[in-house]
Amino acid sequence: EGPLLDVRDLRVEFRTRDGVVKAVNGVTYDVDAGETLAVLGESGSGKSVTAQAVMGILDSPPGRITGGEILFRGRDLLRTGREERRAIRGAQMAMIFQDALSSLNPVLSVGYQLGEMFQVHRGDSRRTARAKAVELMDRVRIPAAKQRVNDYPHQFSGGMRQRIMIAMALALEPDLIIADEPTTALDVTVQAQVMDLLAELQREYRMGLILITHDLGVVADVADKIAVMYAGRIVETAPVHELYKRPAHPYTQGLLDSIPRLDRKGRRLYAVRGLPPNLTRIPPGCEFHPRCPRARQVCVTDRPPLYTVAENDGTPLPGRASACHFWKDELNDAPAH
Ligand code: SF4
Ligand code: MG
Repeated sequence: EGPLLDVRDLRVEFRTRDGVVKAVNGVTYDVDAGETLAVLGESGSGKSVTAQAVMGILDSPPGRITGGEILFRGRDLLRTGREERRAIRGAQMAMIFQDALSSLNPVLSVGYQLGEMFQVHRGDSRRTARAKAVELMDRVRIPAAKQRVNDYPHQFSGGMRQRIMIAMALALEPDLIIADEPTTALDVTVQAQVMDLLAELQREYRMGLILITHDLGVVADVADKIAVMYAGRIVETAPVHELYKRPAHPYTQGLLDSIPRLDRKGRRLYAVRGLPPNLTRIPPGCEFHPRCPRARQVCVTDRPPLYTVAENDGTPLPGRASACHFWKDELNDAPAH
């Protein structure tokens, strides 16, 4: 039996007045039941668009999937009938967004919105649905759930609203949750609480979790593995702790250097210099070369494939890959040329 979700060589384009935006250019990743994959990248790297393609919520017509496969339990969602696809996405997958306030209906109580899930999908009575809503609110640790079930979204704090979003996502006990920047709008302490809750529920329910973020700092403790995206493709994958210890791509190294850390107080914050490319005109060769401190002539002309990363003696490192011609130097921390 393969992974829960297996995305293979996915390609997505958007037609705009400025030309064809190549938003996703051959993304391959997978996640198992009970596993957390963090997808990391700057905005415009294609991480959200990939997730939207998986969930079937790509804004069409401008967006178009031009290639690849999205296998869920071995079934390719791009090639199954509409009804089956909808059934799978409706009951077995759920998504959590950054902005709970715009995802929740402002004029309906949270208890109503949670309860509606059970009424519509489980055929529960209003009374049962309401009881389950309270139970779920308890589950995501909203204090005094019973008293607050009739409150409206704006009556909750940002962190509590994000918990309600998690409750909505959990309601039907999906096998896969995709969370797109779920804590970005929250302050740092609340971010950590919400992230811990999500990780705890993920383990308890043994779900697959895809955590989309631009912030390498928030995923260290919760992810099992990381896929780093740049200009619509994956440039590095690794088990989480290996990625932090020994990145094998200069872009990942740059992202790591830009995390504020207590043990490096006083050191100047280094963000990756420059800007991501315009996706209507992706540079030839390595898409990262205009920003890369290691770039050489070959980087301008030859597009690096996703190399399998190995130790110096040739032993492949499981789950590790890098789209850099000089991954070996980066892995071994050899100085830039
Ligand atoms: Fe940098 Fe070249 Fe590696 Fe691209 S292939 S990341 S430009 S060293
Ligand atoms: Mg995004």
